[in-house]
Amino acid sequence: MDKIKTQEVWFVTGTQHLYGPETLKQVAADSSKIASALDKSPKISQKVVFKPILTTPDSITELCTEANNSKNCIGIITWMHTFSPAKMWIRGLSILNKPFLHFHTQLNRDIPWETIDMNFMNLNQSAHGDREFGFIGTRMRLNRKVVVGHYQDTEAIDRIAVWVRAASAWNDALNMKIARFGDNMRDVAVTEGNKVSAQMKMGYSVYGYGVGDLVKMVNEVTPAAIKKLLAEYGAEYKLTKAVAASDTLKEAARIELGMEGFLKAGNFKAFTTTFEDLHGLKQLPGLAVQRLMAKGYGFGAEGDWKTAALVRSMKVMAAGLKGGTSFMEDYTYHLDPKGMRVLGAHMLEVCPSIALGKPTVEVHQLGIGGKEDPARLVFKTATGDAINVSVIDLGNRFRMIVNEVEVVKCPDMPNLPVASVLWKPQPDLKVGAAAWILAGGAHHTGFSTSIDAEYLEDFAGMMGVEYVLIDEKCDLTEFKKELRWNEISYHIWL
Ligand code: MN
Repeated sequence: MDKIKTQEVWFVTGTQHLYGPETLKQVAADSSKIASALDKSPKISQKVVFKPILTTPDSITELCTEANNSKNCIGIITWMHTFSPAKMWIRGLSILNKPFLHFHTQLNRDIPWETIDMNFMNLNQSAHGDREFGFIGTRMRLNRKVVVGHYQDTEAIDRIAVWVRAASAWNDALNMKIARFGDNMRDVAVTEGNKVSAQMKMGYSVYGYGVGDLVKMVNEVTPAAIKKLLAEYGAEYKLTKAVAASDTLKEAARIELGMEGFLKAGNFKAFTTTFEDLHGLKQLPGLAVQRLMAKGYGFGAEGDWKTAALVRSMKVMAAGLKGGTSFMEDYTYHLDPKGMRVLGAHMLEVCPSIALGKPTVEVHQLGIGGKEDPARLVFKTATGDAINVSVIDLGNRFRMIVNEVEVVKCPDMPNLPVASVLWKPQPDLKVGAAAWILAGGAHHTGFSTSIDAEYLEDFAGMMGVEYVLIDEKCDLTEFKKELRWNEISYHIWL
């Protein structure tokens, strides 16, 4: 996972020459103060860099060109301290290819009732300056986030912080390679999709490999490396002596080392496996996948590269935050009218970043794939708010579906040999699942207890991907209308 604060967000202030040099000096000083306050905020995960104020179409175009060409710049924040005639912005904004956030703010929080005069009014006029700028963004149909509030308002800073993390994920996605061991699970529809469209829209590139390429690296792992990794398992997890000494666990360690070697050598950020294509591997990779996810790799089972990419992006957004992020699958229901629940899990591959307490390494039979019994981490998840996210290919576009859920306490399940999560979907299971199914959401998801729906909304906006939210306010009749209207909207705008 990339280190925090290696990237930059540029703070860009628009104005014009009309006000004279003295006022412009003040504009620059005020703007620098706001940029520096954002930069110092522990909530904002990257640097905020103050840029000289912009007064002409040429300087605006130059700034946008510079942002496009800068490797470190992942997006710009714009603010119109005074009035900045927005025709000046057309050329620059038309070429800007980084995400932008429009911060509609003011240096002063309160109106100084006793001293306010026309000079004050002329200096502090973002209330109308930002409206002129907002118009051109809308007129040009530009995707952007608009955040309103005083620059020290914690709620406004939180919303900017979310956007900065989404911009990091977008930057990461543009440089993302996904390794795909084997193809899609035979006959499965939702995990398929157009990889050319995906790369054009969502940035990442999917590289297919025969599982033999992976097997070769797994077979080259040395006994010394396996011994070292087994010691690591012993330190990090609970396990019985029998499991610790088993050939199964040694084999799991061999698979993990081979897989990690493969991913590192190819500079991959995410990967997929499929239980239908394991020739030469003795087990379905379980423990290996779980631990690689915990290290920051995205993962999708059964060849699901869209979910693998999504899990990686969600992990980038969540870097350093509390909670965790995992590949997930809606598995089975508890339909008791007193509290309907979804039990989420997978055959093996759930990320221990969402574990409550120390996971246990266990070896059990797997009735699918026809391989030896695989090792896996078993655990439960802490209660609290979470999200499930799916990206599907609708043929003419991608759609992202987010369902807010509440992780609830799970009764003991002594015979269930996999990691699991029990949740209540918003607004309830009946409406939430109906909306999900109408929207076409997959059984596979990216699940996170670290980030909320706003991160995904910002991220989808940056990619230009359709976004629908199923939250506590979801009403099925309205939701169906939204899906129907989006069909028209995306026919016009694509
Ligand atoms: Mn699955």
